Amino acid sequence: MTELGGGFDIYAHLRERPSPQMVCPHCRGVGGVEPHPELVLVCKLCGAPRITMPDGMPNDPSSFAQLQKADRARKKRGFLGGLGVIGGVGAAFGVFVALLTLLFGGFAWSMVPFILFVVPSIAALLYARSARTSATKEVAASIDAAWMAAAADLVRAGKVRNAQDLVRATGVDPARAQQVMTMLSVDADIGAPHVRIDAGPVVAQVPADPRFAALEAREREAETEASAVLDDARAKNRTN
Ligand SMILES: [Zn+2]
Repeated sequence: MTELGGGFDIYAHLRERPSPQMVCPHCRGVGGVEPHPELVLVCKLCGAPRITMPDGMPNDPSSFAQLQKADRARKKRGFLGGLGVIGGVGAAFGVFVALLTLLFGGFAWSMVPFILFVVPSIAALLYARSARTSATKEVAASIDAAWMAAAADLVRAGKVRNAQDLVRATGVDPARAQQVMTMLSVDADIGAPHVRIDAGPVVAQVPADPRFAALEAREREAETEASAVLDDARAKNRTN
């Protein structure tokens, strides 16, 4: 068989369009994602956090807004890291100059480099450190919110019912998928009754609610009472 006919088209690859899942919503580049310890899945091209939806599903707008927020916080943290380094170097330089002026010019003169370099550098260092901590918290909160919005969207679309489905649909790692579905089911229990989620083994570990058991017992009691009254009435009817 050497025939290549029957619809074989050697130029087919030129007509192929990248699937929408491959286009990064942040940088518009065509590329895949890779796992990331903090951002879950990131663009191979620009490093921004991404959630790849299954075929035919666009990114949920609120989910994407959260991803953008996480990306901004991540970039801000990078800048603060630089500021922290500058602060550290500035403080070290200031102390060095202050010691030199202390040696050659006396205590009063040594205060000049101290106030000019050491004080602002340490202030910058402390500010950068605390702002980095809050940026890290913001990244984590935004990533969680983005995944919850995306998973809720997939649940509503009927594409995801449990953690395994989420792994299959988005390519996320199973541990994170379980975490997202658990957060979502807790959220659903609190205020969104229209979202029904099967959170897998986690739900099975929740102890039975005693109030529910009591309600059931009361219902059973009422039932037997009612049937006893009915039986009684029937018996009376028959004797009369
Ligand atoms: Zn990108």
